[in-house]
Amino acid sequence: MGGTTEGSERTILILHNAFIVTMDPASRVFTDGAIVVAGDRIEAVGPSAQIIRDFSHLAAAESLVDLRSQFLLPGFVNTHVHTSQQLGRGIADDVDLMTWLHQRIWPYESNMTEKDSYLSTLLCGIELIRSGVTCFAEAGGQHVSGMARAVEELGLRACLTQSIMDTGDGLPGNWSSCSADYCIQSQKELYDKHHNTADGRIRVWFGLRQIMNATNELLLKTRDAAEELKTGIHMHVAEIPYENQLVMSTRKIDHGTVTYLEKIDLLRSNLLAAHSVWLNDAEIGFFSKANVKVSHCPASAMRMLGFARIKEMLEAGICVSLGTDGAPSNNRMSIVDEMYLASLINKGREAFMRGTTNPTAIPSETVLKMVTVNGAKSVLWDNEIGSLEVGKKADMIVVNPFSWTMVPLHDCISSLVYCMRTENIHSVMCNGQWIMKDHKILRVNEEEVISLAMDASVDLLKRAGISLPKRMNYL
Ligand SMILES: [Zn+2]
Repeated sequence: MGGTTEGSERTILILHNAFIVTMDPASRVFTDGAIVVAGDRIEAVGPSAQIIRDFSHLAAAESLVDLRSQFLLPGFVNTHVHTSQQLGRGIADDVDLMTWLHQRIWPYESNMTEKDSYLSTLLCGIELIRSGVTCFAEAGGQHVSGMARAVEELGLRACLTQSIMDTGDGLPGNWSSCSADYCIQSQKELYDKHHNTADGRIRVWFGLRQIMNATNELLLKTRDAAEELKTGIHMHVAEIPYENQLVMSTRKIDHGTVTYLEKIDLLRSNLLAAHSVWLNDAEIGFFSKANVKVSHCPASAMRMLGFARIKEMLEAGICVSLGTDGAPSNNRMSIVDEMYLASLINKGREAFMRGTTNPTAIPSETVLKMVTVNGAKSVLWDNEIGSLEVGKKADMIVVNPFSWTMVPLHDCISSLVYCMRTENIHSVMCNGQWIMKDHKILRVNEEEVISLAMDASVDLLKRAGISLPKRMNYL
């Protein structure tokens, strides 16, 4: 029976001698633990001695992997990333928001081909995998079919979303004529084509870029279409004060975007609200009551938006997860860096807001929960991912802490949040398959992707007519 379970052809893999942080409801940690992977799922979790005794006869010798006391964790979930923007890394650094959007990002995105989206997603996916991400929520990009092809090849899990706008000042010509009906129809077609493909690793969501680029008709039709197909909606929400001011003046409401979305019954448990920086107390209450999920992107918020009220949201019971945002607004697509920043920025905000320090704000346990359990809830996939539990999908990462970045080890959870670097991510498994092993990306040729992506980015910038000031221009 070596390598398969009795009566089935599922491959059995046993990872043992690991320090396992399960993130299960009891927050169990096994200091010398093992996990049995059968096919794409977790068959057993427990102390190494017990697992070896009960399961080793089912596994081939080469399927018994000694992790030599390394950490085994659930794969991280990045809940807000623009995979299509990876080729635009560095095109909009240190510019104001309107220049960022109108002169750099929209020309860039509106000139992308499906092949560009494919290469951009491959390049971004490599960085995601290297930071321990096994699942991500696309924030809204140009060519979902290009993204889907890349995700399938990389071996990742993803909720893919098209960037959707049907109104707005300064939109590129080829975008400005999309009606609400066309936006909904094109997304339904993408849903039919890609939802639940790649062995169930790909899901398709509805997108709303932001309220300033959505008519009322589009908002309501998106709400209803997502309900009908039982899928999620990914939207940028309350990013800047100007957005709230515009909503107040044009939609006749006494506060901003969230108040308006509550009024039209768009706040529901399938809404993933990215950023959500400018909310008042009542709006935090609306999110909590409706079980809206929030993707907090610390680096991007610091650069472009401001301090999100994360501590208050968590205290109100809101599910907050972490995202990197896109390469032109963060540059680093590392969820490991976001974990570190999330804790520090929100501790710093406490001192700034209250005039007194509070190092206990957003502790490491909370941050680790944000990128695992809360991430899974945010992408509506927590019945299958987010923790290492029997029956869940085998999405997990091996962290090697035995390097200058992490030793000595005392408190394992705080070490993972405050010390771990991307380089400590040793191996990554998604859906029972290794997609990175011993730091090597397995399913795509990393060097080839880098080379093709660099060429494609130069061509794209030329087509888009984006020219950076000479001192900034590398090529
Ligand atoms: Zn975004």
